[in-house]
Amino acid sequence: MQTFSVDEKGYYGEFGGAYIPEILHKCVTDLQYAYLDILESEQFKRDFHALLRDYVGRPSPLYFSQQLSDRSGARIYLKREDLNHTGAHKINNTIGQILVARQMGKTRIIAETGAGQHGVATATVCALMQMPCTVYMGKTDVERQYVNVKKMEMLGATVVPVTSGNMTLKDATNEAIRDWCTHPEDTHYIIGSTIGPHPYPDMVARLQSVISKEIKVQLAEKEGRDYPDYLFACVGGGSNAAGTIYEYLDNDNVKIVLAEAGGKGVDSGESAATIQLGSIGVLHGCKTLLMQTEDGQITEPYSISAGLDYPGIGPIHANLASQKRAQVIAVNDDEALKAAFELTKNEGIIPALESAHALAALEKIAFNPTDIVVLTLSGRGDKDLETYFAQIDKD
Ligand SMILES: *Cc1c(COP(=O)(O)O)cnc(C)c1O
Repeated sequence: MQTFSVDEKGYYGEFGGAYIPEILHKCVTDLQYAYLDILESEQFKRDFHALLRDYVGRPSPLYFSQQLSDRSGARIYLKREDLNHTGAHKINNTIGQILVARQMGKTRIIAETGAGQHGVATATVCALMQMPCTVYMGKTDVERQYVNVKKMEMLGATVVPVTSGNMTLKDATNEAIRDWCTHPEDTHYIIGSTIGPHPYPDMVARLQSVISKEIKVQLAEKEGRDYPDYLFACVGGGSNAAGTIYEYLDNDNVKIVLAEAGGKGVDSGESAATIQLGSIGVLHGCKTLLMQTEDGQITEPYSISAGLDYPGIGPIHANLASQKRAQVIAVNDDEALKAAFELTKNEGIIPALESAHALAALEKIAFNPTDIVVLTLSGRGDKDLETYFAQIDKD
């Protein structure tokens, strides 16, 4: 039987594993030994679900979109992660991981962030749990993301601008790993997506799987069956997609469509279409598909959407793509922008630019009229207003 879950060594097919410096060996193996028992303990489940309900605002609605259905020729539902506290799915993971950290006796949290969304979600739960929080962020990103930096500081986090390399996400990640190496005893590193060394991809996927657990219940109520014909999600590192598909991986009736960021075009040299352009390598602790030069230097990715602008892809998704369990579609900047403006005008929902990539992918599939489609709207568009307004001024 084919399985898409992680094996005991932390691999999904040929992808995954834990490629870490010796000094982190103990932190990572401690987490490997502890995480499943913690996630499956009654106390964790109680605390996690209480916070998801009363603090995050779950379950997030499953909204039937008449407009999208008419346009696409299928029955289209939106899973509204944009309505969560802090505006995206990322909070599901940070709440779960801070509870894991507390259970493991950790007293300090670190994180890295690119656009600042994961930094804000981490700073938020650190304020909630009264834990000190340090967020590493490339200096270029600090300058580009003024509002998120100020939010993190207001929430009580220390934001450290990183001046090495290109001063963006991968440099911030290196710095966070360096911090973890020097404080392995008291510090938990909250990784924001289904990336990093085992057990992070599996842990994050399990924490985000609340998305597909809710879809099952909500679809059963609305359609009389608990699975759709198609699931759509955008992929940066892959966490909202992993949460969306988790409960359906072994159900062959459910087709999976992942939208990655084509940027200015897959062959333009300015793209973040990792699955199409990537080759196998090791990044941030796991073996996966990466955008790299022939001699293994990471290529700087590009997308209009900061959350999809990552040179790697989670090992779960690298495996799903290589096994052909998931279909991967590259969506370019202009297509995502168009889909975002259409959803705004037709439904009164301003989506995050990341989520707009999944919306644009709807147009690339020929549906049957009876098909049931669930698309995860990973976040709201407040953080992208400047980009949207610049586009309006251009038109
Ligand atoms: C961060 C982010 C993403 C991309 O991250 P994944 O781990 O691939 O889900 C997508 N959508 C929104 C709104 C985000 O903030």
